[in-house]
Amino acid sequence: MLNGHKVAEETEESRTTNMQVKIRQLLESFEATETIHTPEELADRVKSELEIEDEDLSNFTFIEAGNVINQSAYEYVKKEDRIVLIPHCLRDAEKCIAPIDDEGYHCKKCGACIIAEITQAAEDRGIKWYMVGGGSHAINIVKNARPQAVFGIACFDDAKLGVEKVGKFGIPTQAVLLSKAGCVNTEVEIDKVLTKLDLPDSSE
Ligand code: SF4
Repeated sequence: MLNGHKVAEETEESRTTNMQVKIRQLLESFEATETIHTPEELADRVKSELEIEDEDLSNFTFIEAGNVINQSAYEYVKKEDRIVLIPHCLRDAEKCIAPIDDEGYHCKKCGACIIAEITQAAEDRGIKWYMVGGGSHAINIVKNARPQAVFGIACFDDAKLGVEKVGKFGIPTQAVLLSKAGCVNTEVEIDKVLTKLDLPDSSE
């Protein structure tokens, strides 16, 4: 039987998930029906409509606003011309055996962390992946790899910076925020990552 604490946690989780679904729907609706040009404008419109004050939901709204605005340009890029940037903080810091060089860490898929699943899913879809050490390393990878679209998994600060900088190169982006941020042993929801990896290729 679930104890009270566990039930409260699950209720909170499902409330957050429901709110995220509502935010995404409203972002899509406003983007389709109103003259809004930037993620800031779109996020502010939705935050005001839903009276969002919570910091995590506010950050989610901003990043998702960028995703909505960029999605059709992103989907116009073939999967083999996209890359996914994975933060090394998702590794199991104690067990990880991934070697590192200028292109970042090379996951050996030992299975100790979620990166094994993410890298395998990317490879299955023909999307190149890089495991990066932080925001500036990610930007260097983009400069060297010259992808036509970038999907990044990151904490809010790195995602915001990355989307802005990569956007200045004229490259469409998609981003998924870490569900538990920090410097080590962070977490991300795999379903959200797979949804982004599965975004269709509408170039043909
Ligand atoms: S799955 Fe990859 S990234 Fe994760 S701990 Fe193993 S080698 Fe390191």
